[in-house]
Amino acid sequence: MSKDNTVCPACGSKDTHRHETISTAYATLGSAFTYADVYYLCNSCKEEIDIFNETDQNFQAGEKEAQKQFVQQAIEYMSNNGVGMALFERVFELPTRTLARWKEGNFSSSALSLLHVVITFPWIIKVAEKKFSPEYANHELISAAASKFVEQAHNSISHSNFSIEVKSETTFLAKVSAYNESDTKISPRVTYNETARIVG
Ligand SMILES: [Zn+2]
Repeated sequence: MSKDNTVCPACGSKDTHRHETISTAYATLGSAFTYADVYYLCNSCKEEIDIFNETDQNFQAGEKEAQKQFVQQAIEYMSNNGVGMALFERVFELPTRTLARWKEGNFSSSALSLLHVVITFPWIIKVAEKKFSPEYANHELISAAASKFVEQAHNSISHSNFSIEVKSETTFLAKVSAYNESDTKISPRVTYNETARIVG
């Protein structure tokens, strides 16, 4: 459907031409999606205006589809890793069939946020199972951090200001460079060396 010759809201001219390009965006933790970026060029005043707000609507529709996919994949991923829908509903005190509704695309932005948190920090499920007991939460946090620490050490991952060196099977040397707020590129950095022993 051509919408050329639409009245320009800036100058009233009908000498307008509709332009459409395809843009790509990413849903949070989800897949890429494309949407049509639309604007009308007025040949009289040269204004570029998205007269019918089509770009925003297209973006939201594309994002919603990508979010639906993320929700389905997150629920399937959890099921494949021992967290069934009933367990998830029980630990987070959600009504039964909540996840079935989410899976069908009927989810709120709070539901989406909860899934973002759970997928990023899966151990939160165990914490929820223990009714968010502070001691248990600390225990899970520390063991998750220790596992991640060991995993990074073995992968030799280093960041510009953080590196881990494997000294032996159980000892790792963590080097953290600290930067002063008012520091410039010239002044020396403070470097902390921390030796961590992983037990067990
Ligand atoms: Zn115009």
